[in-house]
Amino acid sequence: MAFRKKFAPRRKFCRFCADKDLPLDYKRPDILRDFITERGKIVARRITGTCAKHQRQLTTEIKRARQMALLFYTTAHSSDVKKKTNI
Ligand SMILES: [Zn+2]
Repeated sequence: MAFRKKFAPRRKFCRFCADKDLPLDYKRPDILRDFITERGKIVARRITGTCAKHQRQLTTEIKRARQMALLFYTTAHSSDVKKKTNI
């Protein structure tokens, strides 16, 4: 099982601070997906390096995206969601 890694950057930094053009939005599940695990859990801030401000925003957007069914809750569901999200 590939449990660790996927998020093993050498230097941690907040991607949203680093790239002002990176949208933090529930309508961009392709970006949000980088911050959740394969199982649909939100990845901890100390792992992604996201700053407190953006992590809070991120959490909100991910939850919103889930409600809009743009993100998957479980892996079983994920392939299905991918087909629908062609942004
Ligand atoms: Zn930030």
